[in-house]
Order: sequence, then C-alpha cells, then structure tokens
Amino acid sequence: MSSRQTETDVILIGAGIMSATLGTLLKELVPEWKITVFEKLASAGEESSNEWNNAGTGHAALCELNYTAEKSDGSIDISKAIVVNEHFQVSMQFWSYLVNSNLIRNPQDFIMPLPHMSLVQGEKDVAYLKKRFETMSKNPLFQGMEFSDDPKKLMEWIPLIMKDRTSNEPIAATKMDSGTDVNFGALTRMLFDHLRKKNVDIHYKHSVDDIKRTSDGLWELKIRNDSGTVERHTAKFVFIGGGGGSLPLLQKSGIPEGKHIGGFPISGLFMVCNNPKVVAQHHAKVYGKAKVGAPPMSVPHLDTRFIDNKKSLLFGPFAGFSPKFLKTGSMFDLIGSVKPNNLFTMLAAGAKNLSLTKYLVQQLMLSKEKRMEELREFIPNAKSEDWDMLVAGQRVQVIKDTVSGGKGTLQFGTEVVTAADGSVAALLGASPGASTAVSVMLEVIEKCFPQHLKEWEPKIKEMVPSYGLPLVENPELVREIHASTARTLGLKKLKSVSSQ
Ligand SMILES: Cc1cc2nc3c(=O)[nH]c(=O)nc-3n(C[C@H](O)[C@H](O)[C@H](O)COP(=O)(O)OP(=O)(O)OC[C@H]3O[C@@H](n4cnc5c(N)ncnc54)[C@H](O)[C@@H]3O)c2cc1C
Repeated sequence: MSSRQTETDVILIGAGIMSATLGTLLKELVPEWKITVFEKLASAGEESSNEWNNAGTGHAALCELNYTAEKSDGSIDISKAIVVNEHFQVSMQFWSYLVNSNLIRNPQDFIMPLPHMSLVQGEKDVAYLKKRFETMSKNPLFQGMEFSDDPKKLMEWIPLIMKDRTSNEPIAATKMDSGTDVNFGALTRMLFDHLRKKNVDIHYKHSVDDIKRTSDGLWELKIRNDSGTVERHTAKFVFIGGGGGSLPLLQKSGIPEGKHIGGFPISGLFMVCNNPKVVAQHHAKVYGKAKVGAPPMSVPHLDTRFIDNKKSLLFGPFAGFSPKFLKTGSMFDLIGSVKPNNLFTMLAAGAKNLSLTKYLVQQLMLSKEKRMEELREFIPNAKSEDWDMLVAGQRVQVIKDTVSGGKGTLQFGTEVVTAADGSVAALLGASPGASTAVSVMLEVIEKCFPQHLKEWEPKIKEMVPSYGLPLVENPELVREIHASTARTLGLKKLKSVSSQ
C-alpha cells in the first residue's frame, strides 16, 4: 500500500552522528531550508554512533600508533597524525560553538578529559616510541606529550597495567593529558533533540528502500514505515548517512560515482569491566600496537569510559568477520552488495585479503578465555569473572580500485562520494570515524553546495574559527583553540590515578 508524498529541501538518511552533524551545520547556515530525516530504528544514535558500539576515543592522533609509521630511513612520518589532529580540532571548535550558543548544554554529558597513552614493549618498539615522541612533541599540535621508560613513573600513570608485571622486557609509554573520551551516542541524541526544536522533521522506524532521480532532477525516496506502508518523499538534496547501510543506497541511486565500489564488513567486540574496584585503578586510554596481520582498527586498547555518569573499562576491539553491514543488518548484506559493476573489484579484494579474512574468522571464533589472554598482556592479573563480552558496531571498509593499490584495494579511511551535480552525497567507511564528523560534513557541504560557499563562509568561520587554515602552521591559533575549547567543554588537566 502506498500513501504519503512530501517534497523538501534536504533529506538526511539515518540518525547517526554524521546526519546529526550535517543537519546541525545546515540549520545554522540556512535556517529556512526544510530538512527531513528518515531513520529505520526507533531512536537516534543506535548503530555505530551508540556509546556501546564504538570505543569513544576522541581521535586526535595522540595515542594511535597506526597514524605514525616508521619510514625506511628510520624517521617517523607524522603527516597522517597531523591531519587527524586537525580534523579533531575542527570538531572541538564546532562543539564549543554549539555549547556557547546554548544549542546544546552540559558538555560533560558527551565529552570528558582523559589521558591518551601509547604503550609498547621490547627494545625495538621502545626505540620507535621514543623517536616518535621526539618528533611529535616538537609539533605545536602535540605539545605536552610526555615519554617515560621508567617503570616507577609508569606505575604512577598506569598502575593496573604495571602491577604484577613479571616480564623484564623494556617497556615505555607516552602520555597526553589533553585526550578525551567522547560519548558519541549522547552527542548524537543531543543534536537530534536540538534539530527537532528547530522544526526538523524526524521520522523513526522509517526505512529507506530505494532512491531514484526524478525527471525534474530531484531525488525520490521510497520509504517503508513500521506499519508496512510505503511512502514517497522527494528532495533537492539527499545525504546518505546510513553508516554501513550507505553503500546499498548509493548503489541504488545509480550515480556513476557510486560504481566500482564495494564494502568489506568488519565486526567488533569489546571486553567490558564493571567491577568498581578494578575500574578505579585505571584512568586513561592506553593504545598498544596492532598484532601482525590485524587490520589497523583492531589495535588493542584499554580505555576508561564515562557512560551515564558511570566509569567502566573497555578492552578491545577484537575485529571479526560478519557479512552484515549494520549490527542490526542482514546476513545477505555483503552478497547483496556485489553488482556487475563492482564484481571484479570485489573478487580482486577477496583474493588480496585472504589472510585478513582468515585472521578475522579466527578472531571471531576466539573463546572468552583466549580473549582474556590478550587482555592479560595489558592487565597481567585480569580475572575472567570481572569481564564480560560486548558486541560492538559493524565497520564497512571501502573497497575500490586505486592507482597505487590496484584493483580491489581495501581502504581504511572515510570516503565522501558525491554526484557530479552535488545533489546527493554518501558517507562510506568508518575510520577515524565519528571524531572527524564535523570536517567530513564540511567536506560534504563544500562539494555539494559550492555556489553558496562564499555567502556561508563567515558563518562557518564563526562556528569553526580555524576553518581554511592549516593549524600546524599557526601555533598561536593552536594554543588559543586548545585553551578556549578546553574551557568551554570543561576539559581541565587531570591528575594521574595515584594522585586522585
Ligand atoms: C567497534 C567500533 C569502534 C569505533 N571506535 C571509534 C572511536 O573510538 N572513535 C571514533 O571517532 N569513531 C569510532 N568508530 C567509528 C564511528 O562509530 C562511526 O564512524 C560513526 O558512528 C558513524 O556514524 P554514522 O552516522 O555514519 O553511522 P551510524 O551511527 O551507524 O548511523 C547510521 C544510521 O543510519 C540508519 N540506516 C541505515 N540504513 C538505513 C536505511 N536504509 N533507512 C533508514 N535508516 C538507515 C541506521 O539504522 C543508523 O541509525 C568506531 C566504530 C566501531 C564499529
């Protein structure tokens, strides 16, 4: 049965952090535009953006070793870390703008200060970390980084990890007190509450089944609501912010830019500790090094999390293989995404990534006790009864043909795919993810609305003062931004656990 038809300026598909961010930016830039949101689940922020489905790291490259590769000459390449950090500063500025303008309140409900640390063992890795520290700490973006290979100092920083450690291997860590834990689920819900107040039409339990261009250049969406009724809604601009569900919708749009692209779903699992005595002994996000053969997003880390005013510990993520594109998706998602135009890309990716797939399947089969063994590399005396397994969100990595990697190359970043006329945009990929939502959504705006940019630029600069400026070349601005965002978002310098 078919019913309702509406026409609007903008349709956002999906109520995750990306649609929330784009909707909020657009409402500030052009309040008069009509925006409608369709989300298949019952509320906002229930898939990857949910606080229990991701690690909540405010990715600013303060601790993630996969952003700082060692070059063949032994020097450390920090260019990727600079990009990730700059993107996070954009998010911090926009969130501060929202708080200062009273559009959202109580920043402590979504962002908390938390030291970010990198931890390595063994002579070779300790030497690498030291070199990395020497390179990064000279850069204005990473000032304040501390390094120590002194077990006594490390005991002060990370008692839970250092206690009962019997290995004599050299061990070292870096620490940045300006790190954060971000509750992206809470932030997503805050932004959707704000959008509702601004008269954005938000429809939950509405699944977008199809998207087609009409003869007059608009986009018509076929949507099924929870009573099974089919609705048709038309818009001038559509953002496909379906997370893992974006690729199938991009394919349905038929735009040439969406062809020859595939998706490789990677599942995630955390171990969570709610024993208050254990939780009280750790206060940081501590990132280690990825195991050989592991994808970059499965770098193990032990994190303090602040969720619903309660502290807990999360360890993981353990990556695994599942053919679903969303946690709430279908076992046929992967096979259904293979189309004549991406068949060879997908086959090439399959052949190239046999060892990765094998690794992911093996990871999926790990028993709880095997996972505890990995956790004990961080917490030597971790007890099984203190830890439970928690299924996290799905990450659909982009597969495409690239000049450097050839056919079917697996990408670990985020990709914005837009139609040539800017009338539709889709966000694919999931890393560094939610932390970079603001710069990625500004990229969508730049690509899709170039005709308005000149007029919108002053407002964008009001929301993100560093817009258009490379921060790394403006140390004074970096200092100003660090100080003002920390003040507005309530991120004061923290004491270490032992001094609390
Ligand atoms: C294990 C794991 C750990 C992570 N850790 C971090 C981290 O520490 N820091 C970080 O910054 N990022 C992290 N990420 C990435 C981050 O979670 C994602 O990049 C981000 O949440 C994606 O937001 P989104 O809005 O694109 O997607 P989602 O939050 O998944 O939202 C998409 C929405 O679209 C809806 N939808 C899908 N298809 C349809 C349809 N056809 N019709 C209607 N609605 C639809 C879905 O129901 C969903 O609500 C992690 C991700 C995972 C899985």
